[in-house]
Amino acid sequence: MTASTRHEAVRGLAHEAVIEPETMNEEPNNARIPEYFGKFVFNDKTQQERLPGPVYKALRQVIETGAPLTHEIADSVASAMKDWAIENGATHYTHWFQPMTGSTAEKHDSFMNPTKGGGAVLELSGAQLFQGEPDASSFPSGGLRATFEARGYTAWDPTSPAFLRCTPEGSTLTIPTAFCSWTGAALDKKTPMLRSNQALSKAAARILQLIGESQVTRASSSGGIEQEYFLIDADFFNLRPDLLACGRTLFGARPYKGQEFDDHYFGNIPTRVLRFMHDLEHELWLLGIPVKTRHNEVAPSQYELAPVYQPISISTDQNMLTMALLKDIAERHGFACLMHEKPFAGLNGSGKHLNWSVADNLNNNLFDPGKTPHENLKFIIFLTAIARGVDLHQDLLRSSIASASNDHRLGANEAPPAIISVFLGKHLEGIVDSIIAGSTPDEGSTEPLRLGVTNLPDLPRDISDRNRTSPLAFTGNRFEFRAVGSNQSPAYPATFLNTILADSLDYLSDAIEKAGGPSTENIQKIVRETLTQHRRIFFSGDNYSQEWREEAARRGLLELKGTPEALAPLRDPKNEALFSKMGVFTAEELESRWYVQTEIYVNKINVEAMATRDLAMTMLLPAAMEHQKRLADSINALESVVGSEGTTSQKEILALVTKAIGSLKSSVDSLLQIQERWELAEDDLAAQAAGYRNEVLPAMDKVRESADFLERLVDDSLWPLPKYREMLFIR
Ligand code: ADP
Ligand code: MG
Repeated sequence: MTASTRHEAVRGLAHEAVIEPETMNEEPNNARIPEYFGKFVFNDKTQQERLPGPVYKALRQVIETGAPLTHEIADSVASAMKDWAIENGATHYTHWFQPMTGSTAEKHDSFMNPTKGGGAVLELSGAQLFQGEPDASSFPSGGLRATFEARGYTAWDPTSPAFLRCTPEGSTLTIPTAFCSWTGAALDKKTPMLRSNQALSKAAARILQLIGESQVTRASSSGGIEQEYFLIDADFFNLRPDLLACGRTLFGARPYKGQEFDDHYFGNIPTRVLRFMHDLEHELWLLGIPVKTRHNEVAPSQYELAPVYQPISISTDQNMLTMALLKDIAERHGFACLMHEKPFAGLNGSGKHLNWSVADNLNNNLFDPGKTPHENLKFIIFLTAIARGVDLHQDLLRSSIASASNDHRLGANEAPPAIISVFLGKHLEGIVDSIIAGSTPDEGSTEPLRLGVTNLPDLPRDISDRNRTSPLAFTGNRFEFRAVGSNQSPAYPATFLNTILADSLDYLSDAIEKAGGPSTENIQKIVRETLTQHRRIFFSGDNYSQEWREEAARRGLLELKGTPEALAPLRDPKNEALFSKMGVFTAEELESRWYVQTEIYVNKINVEAMATRDLAMTMLLPAAMEHQKRLADSINALESVVGSEGTTSQKEILALVTKAIGSLKSSVDSLLQIQERWELAEDDLAAQAAGYRNEVLPAMDKVRESADFLERLVDDSLWPLPKYREMLFIR
């Protein structure tokens, strides 16, 4: 890969033709969306059409109330699912799961079964739908499963509908599943999420019944997941070994024009990108993913999409699927889709906003402040539970979003800092304060705010009362967890949010029962005490400011800056107790999460360190030395004509380049030394992770600094890596 290949890539772009979408799908046509939306999903409508009445009813019971699944139902569902899939071109089926790596996994089996006479039939039995047995030995288990007990099970999750992944060659029936070891330990991101939703359901129903909502039997969280991403031309991507191996650029001088003009955000979507988006949306709609919004984000070449919110198990699965499609369809259009949290230094990175709310079986959103006293009471109780949950478990929420890549983003003045707090907005914070003070919420009213008696003043829902700097912002009828990383599974933070809310709802139920029942006085007293105790978690100011850091420290809030620190709480006995009590993680399962994620952290940075060294030695230094040689040759040639006085400037440039080459070389030497030392320090994983954060990363930064300086000195035609100004601005 030489500079000339790079320039060929740039030239090639001028003639870039968008590859036509495969013709297997209908042409995008707005009027026909209602016809084809969800066509490739074995959804409620299809189930109703294809299942025998009693089977359909039984399956709905399983999905809605968690009733047990019998083998008869499974057999019948499997057979209908198979027929539907085959009619739609499927040849294979797969159990689709989310191992602890954070991505998705699948192993395909054909429907084909040989028969005695030498023929074949197409089959899918209830047992095959129910349970799969992929060899689990190559998935991380964090010590939950010894390699010799490699058996792992995938179990059908009927709450998230099966769907078809289509290619022109054939499609695959994809069955969302949970993944566990032979002892039943969760080896994935989904199982704990389903468990946490169950815990939340129980706790929410309990407190709602306690305050007289006798019709409420269950509840579930919902997620609306905004996804940010970058699109760059695939030719550039392929010429960047760092993007290929690490998902982010390890080198690259800042472009003279970055995002300082704010001219990209909500700007005109470039035509080539718009064609990609049309194609993507069409595919998402076929898969029943209700993607609704699309726009340019803050950084050049950065975009965002958001679907309409869904029950949490569906929305988290759909987000994983959306990420896979973003990548596939980007390729089809000659783009690479980057979902790393910080692909380009000095520019905004990408996040994933998890909009999260809880609704009961009567479809009441419990985060909706409502208009009547009765609704207000529920809302205030849930708000109080959030305050308590987030304050007591700041450490856990922080750990739920921890990763090597998200570290670059949190606290970098583009995303919330590593301090967890809750934004309510002025009005709601005023109401919390008046509850605490027992005073009137606004000047207009003379009555003190009495829960269950007085209405809350209307809460404005307009954009001006939004706080885009808060990690967890109330946005009218939901909380928006904005600190989530673009590349991570949203199931994980959802698990933590569900769990801490369930625990605090139980705490409030216990307190109400202990006080003698749900009288207004009792509830008022408990709410007031709890809010007073956890008032410090609310912050409506600028989370990016230095003042907030100082204020948060005064309030005693945690700031867990890097991943090793942020993961440590997973080993805290307080958190083990919480998760076991709520039935979400056993102590071993929680410990395994710490282990797997810390190991991923170490491995990620180790790969980056090796790539940094390699690119510096084999691409950047040779280019710089060639430039140096040309300068020297030029000085020699010039001196023979004009004498040595005439080459002063040339010599100054040469000296500058020589010095920069020296510092690049010595920073690489030092990185090599540090990296090798920590790579060997395997016997203490916690110390190793801290070593990578505190020593390896800074050593990599030094290499980058020298290299980026050289990028500004070396002849442009010699520079081997596509530059920021090209990757981000040419499409
Ligand atoms: P913004 O960028 O202003 O935050 P978007 O429209 O991009 O807003 O995204 C908002 C997301 O929140 C959407 O996915 C939307 O469906 C979701 N959402 C709206 N109401 C709820 C709710 N009650 N619970 C969960 N998610 C919700
Ligand atoms: Mg948002």
